[in-house]
Amino acid sequence: MRKEQMSVHTLEDMPLMEDLHEGEVYDLAIVGAGLSALSLLHSGAAALGRTVVLDYQEQVGGLLRYLLPADGFEAEWELLRDFQLPAGVRLLLQTTAVGLLPASAAEPTHTLVVRRRQGTAQLRARQVVIACGGVECPREHDAIPGTRPAGVMTPVLALQLLARGYLPGRRALVYGDSRYALATARRLEEAGLEVITAAPTSGNGRSVRLCGTIQEICGFPRLSAVRLRSHDQQSVEVEADTLIYATGLLAGTHWLKGSGVSLTATGTIAVDAHYRTTIPGIYAIGAVIRPQLDHESSLRMGKEVAALLPGGVL
Ligand SMILES: Cc1cc2nc3c(=O)[nH]c(=O)nc-3n(C[C@H](O)[C@H](O)[C@H](O)COP(=O)(O)OP(=O)(O)OC[C@H]3O[C@@H](n4cnc5c(N)ncnc54)[C@H](O)[C@@H]3O)c2cc1C
Repeated sequence: MRKEQMSVHTLEDMPLMEDLHEGEVYDLAIVGAGLSALSLLHSGAAALGRTVVLDYQEQVGGLLRYLLPADGFEAEWELLRDFQLPAGVRLLLQTTAVGLLPASAAEPTHTLVVRRRQGTAQLRARQVVIACGGVECPREHDAIPGTRPAGVMTPVLALQLLARGYLPGRRALVYGDSRYALATARRLEEAGLEVITAAPTSGNGRSVRLCGTIQEICGFPRLSAVRLRSHDQQSVEVEADTLIYATGLLAGTHWLKGSGVSLTATGTIAVDAHYRTTIPGIYAIGAVIRPQLDHESSLRMGKEVAALLPGGVL
């Protein structure tokens, strides 16, 4: 697929601190400018009143931005490539939500505590949509035994290296069988790496070369091999200088600690069938409620919540 120019919003669009309009009450604040948020905005944000969108990155697009364009992700690429900020929507990049104070009897609007290079500020809004996605699950999270060598990374880091013109290694084991993992494997192959794909199971119909769970990571200071154990308990040592650990995402909810927004046992935000959290006026969509969701779900959730919000359109 041809790499096309993406018309994304950059830091040049970013207002200064005084332009945060701290005293202003927004009708809607959206935390995150990734796939689900862009889908929401694309589906009728103009009708939702004064809207502010904030994201800690320098561009919109979320985690998938590093992969696109890629085969199998056509709808996502189209949304990202052609995205235009609707009139009346304020986009604040390099702006991180670090806290959420829900509305109360004393304060009828929700307050987002946000941090930027210039300092900390507060944004107030009648409705909040949390669309902050997830963080990639690292090898440390799954407590895999072995050494801690260079060369073990997540897909986004590998894709970021490629985007900057660096090869992450020469021979990579890509561990995971999601569409994202396999698209990352293809991208590495196109860049000239020798790639071996592996996953714990081959049950989802996608083909990986090896089937087994990682038993041990070997080598230091650079990765030299990964030991896999197959279902019939056979141990296989795969020589590689790079491990792309692509097992999934963890919901990005750390900043909601103490907010009163309820989480599920797996750490995702608890929502009802209408994406409502346990706090009235606060919604959640995308990977933060379903870290293993497929991409169509992110787009669909954005559209659905746009219709459910007060003033929203179908
Ligand atoms: C390792 C990996 C595995 C994946 N596995 C799958 C899979 O199995 N199947 C699949 O279909 N898709 C998968 N994905 C793709 C993808 O993550 C989601 O489908 C999609 O991007 C989710 O959309 P979203 O809007 O919820 O999150 P994102 O598109 O990631 O957007 C979230 C945005 O919120 C911003 N943000 C986060 N926290 C804050 C904060 N506190 N303040 C301000 N901004 C914030 C982020 O910068 C980001 O731009 C995977 C991705 C990775 C990296």
